[in-house]
Amino acid sequence: MLMKKINGHGHLLPYPKDIPQFMQDQKHFWVSEDGKFMCQGDWTRPITDESFFLNEKLAWMDKHEIAHEVVLTLSQLYCNGLNEQTCYDIIRFQNDFNAKVQAEHSDRFTTGFVVQPAYIDQSLKEIERCVAQHQLKLLCLSTHFLNQDGEWVSVADDSVAPIFELADQYQLAIEIHPYDADKLVNMKNTFWRHHLVWMMAQTADTYMMYVFNGLAQKYPNIRTCFAHGAMLAQANHARVIQGLEGRPDLFPGAHHPNEVLGHKNIYFDTLVHDPYTLQLMINRHGSNQILCGIDDPYPLGEMETVPGWYPGKLLDEAVDKEIISQKQRSDIWCDNVLRWIGG
Ligand SMILES: [Zn+2]
Repeated sequence: MLMKKINGHGHLLPYPKDIPQFMQDQKHFWVSEDGKFMCQGDWTRPITDESFFLNEKLAWMDKHEIAHEVVLTLSQLYCNGLNEQTCYDIIRFQNDFNAKVQAEHSDRFTTGFVVQPAYIDQSLKEIERCVAQHQLKLLCLSTHFLNQDGEWVSVADDSVAPIFELADQYQLAIEIHPYDADKLVNMKNTFWRHHLVWMMAQTADTYMMYVFNGLAQKYPNIRTCFAHGAMLAQANHARVIQGLEGRPDLFPGAHHPNEVLGHKNIYFDTLVHDPYTLQLMINRHGSNQILCGIDDPYPLGEMETVPGWYPGKLLDEAVDKEIISQKQRSDIWCDNVLRWIGG
């Protein structure tokens, strides 16, 4: 069956020479000259696939017949805890980089831009700039940020309202994606637990805040996608409701989570690794709110560098197990992604 494939969740690294020198000098973020490692402070991570880089990603997309990809921003560049000027410089670099990719390859990529909510005025100006100057229409937000009082705050907190208001005015798509769990959770990163457990908890936490604060109802023009299917939020749905109903005194003004089940402006991507988790998401929200997200080229994504995996494997398995129909699979690969990004 011919099926147009649009991947709604991917990442792209600049080539080493395209990263400004100050970012390496100040150890914020750089890529080793041989393209084998990404580095930040004392942290390094192997670059596990060539398709982290632009030309190689285009070849990888061709190989897997992926017509178009939504490129989010790099989570390493959320700039949590950095001062205002450094944050401005790094975020401008990231957003200009993504804008250039979209401008030069608009048929293959829709790219996102990022802001750091600790600096609201800067964020609002950057949204204006990215929309007006770069025609970007996807705002990428980290699930949590470090505010100026040194507290970790969910991005769905009331203090971030001006950003959502402006996004609503511009009718932007929004992606909420976790990172920096190692900074929130004071435990050694044994067995990669920050990626495997705590990042999932971050997304579940911000989904809960988004729902209780009624952001979908308050801002009817934004369409928000939660990364990795907000998979722990799916399993946690009934516990959250029991908390609300068991201790209503703790929830003044909170919206009921059932109000947004299947809400047309809340989306989840498919990066949940398991067809039965996908089934739970579909049971809760309906397949129209699910969009294909490969999270390439990271090794937690649906990458052929990981034994047994290839892009789209989860959806194929879900068809084989009769969890979804072929029509639902093709909608998840294409129409649902387009509805989210507003294309
Ligand atoms: Zn990702």
